[in-house]
Amino acid sequence: MSSTVSGKSGTWRNWAGNVTARPAREVSPASVEELSDVVRRAAEDGLRVKPVGTGHSFTAVAATDGVLVRPDLLTGIRRIDREGGTVTVEAGTPLKRLNVALAREGLSLTNMGDIMEQTVSGATSTGTHGTGRDSASIAAQIKGLELVTADGSVLTCSEKENPEVFAAARTGLGALGVISAITFAVEPIFLLSAREEPMSFDEVTSSFDELVTENEHFEFYWFPHTGNCNTKRNNRSAGPERPVGALRGFFEDEFLSNGVFQVASQVGRAVPATIPAIARISSRALSARTYTDIPYKVFTSPRRVRFTEMEYAVPRAALVETLRELKAMVDRSRLRVSFPVEVRTAPADDITLSTASGRDSAYIAVHMFRGTPYQAYFSAAEHIFTAHEGRPHWGKVHTRDAEYLAGAYPRFGEFTELRDRLDPERRFGNDYLRRVLGA
Ligand SMILES: Cc1cc2nc3c(=O)[nH]c(=O)nc-3n(C[C@H](O)[C@H](O)[C@H](O)COP(=O)(O)OP(=O)(O)OC[C@H]3O[C@@H](n4cnc5c(N)ncnc54)[C@H](O)[C@@H]3O)c2cc1C
Repeated sequence: MSSTVSGKSGTWRNWAGNVTARPAREVSPASVEELSDVVRRAAEDGLRVKPVGTGHSFTAVAATDGVLVRPDLLTGIRRIDREGGTVTVEAGTPLKRLNVALAREGLSLTNMGDIMEQTVSGATSTGTHGTGRDSASIAAQIKGLELVTADGSVLTCSEKENPEVFAAARTGLGALGVISAITFAVEPIFLLSAREEPMSFDEVTSSFDELVTENEHFEFYWFPHTGNCNTKRNNRSAGPERPVGALRGFFEDEFLSNGVFQVASQVGRAVPATIPAIARISSRALSARTYTDIPYKVFTSPRRVRFTEMEYAVPRAALVETLRELKAMVDRSRLRVSFPVEVRTAPADDITLSTASGRDSAYIAVHMFRGTPYQAYFSAAEHIFTAHEGRPHWGKVHTRDAEYLAGAYPRFGEFTELRDRLDPERRFGNDYLRRVLGA
């Protein structure tokens, strides 16, 4: 769990370094029974409880002054049901471990995000998503959940069993209980062909609908201060496998996308006036390429350059207008933005507080290099996103509160009523949840 540093001082820190917390104590339960004990003992001591994943959230969603529950000993695959097409994993299993283990069994998740460092529970609890025309977030691939609730009892849920808990707890923000195991839908492993290609901002925005409709997974990055984008289309392929060559992979994914980008970001932070020129060069550095590989090798890549991020989901039909407004705002401002803006999509899903709950969505993510002031940029961007009924990613910087979110989510009340029932004393509460869920 390298990214969640807990030093001798007892301070917990997230990956981006923008959130710290001082828990009263830390525990690493190794079984559901131990987890139940942790929750019961915390109640006796009048302490709150918060499970963490790998600390990859940019918000204080995982911060606690109570008992911090580490995932390290709750890992591994419990069961594979080939006939039913499911895998059941312990809650603290890192996605990378799940992906590799599934591949060995000839299986795979259908869709996932950009990286695989997070734990399965941490990722799904905030609605972590990739991009997809037909396939949605990682949480939307959940078939069943086991969680320890505020009184220490174990509750299982699925579409058939406790369906109202299942609807909410798949993206439960850590507010409903501590997940101890997750059952995911899996499918026989398949190949994806990726096509990465530079395109102009005008070209991508004017053909956005076609690009999304014609591809199973379409996403693009726009480089602020330029009219340049890098696009990526992933589609299933009959093969043959054609992975990125080791040398080219190292040069483009490690050297350019991480090494050179890190140095360029440092130069930009020291001398912001250089950023537009750097953006023009970086947006041209990566050339077109195609490759075919198993899903996690196509969907995910290492992200070593640290940054702060805000991401909003807007109705898919509002994407182009929202993005054009964002570009116009950056163009007329004095902002200097060294990180590309990422755009992805997801179909509507049925999870109560998923950012794509009940509506076809497009995501716009803005980033700033770690250590660079981000408030002015994020606040101007957020102003634009919220004017388009935007819903913030639960794990990424935003300033929304319960009043706004109750308007953004038609099923908000359903979630808070369930929370009142499952956790009336707010054993799993923290300051972030008080802000976004109210009380
Ligand atoms: C480099 C980077 C890349 C990213 N890429 C993407 C991306 O492609 N798509 C995307 O949508 N997001 C992305 N994110 C955001 C990230 O996926 C989410 O913030 C995710 O929640 C982090 O998972 P984690 O394991 O680190 O959990 P944490 O951040 O540690 O915790 C997140 C939440 O999960 C809860 N939680 C953890 N374990 C449990 C449990 N056992 N039971 C109940 N609740 C639990 C915590 O209490 C907290 O509320 C990225 C973040 C970074 C830093």
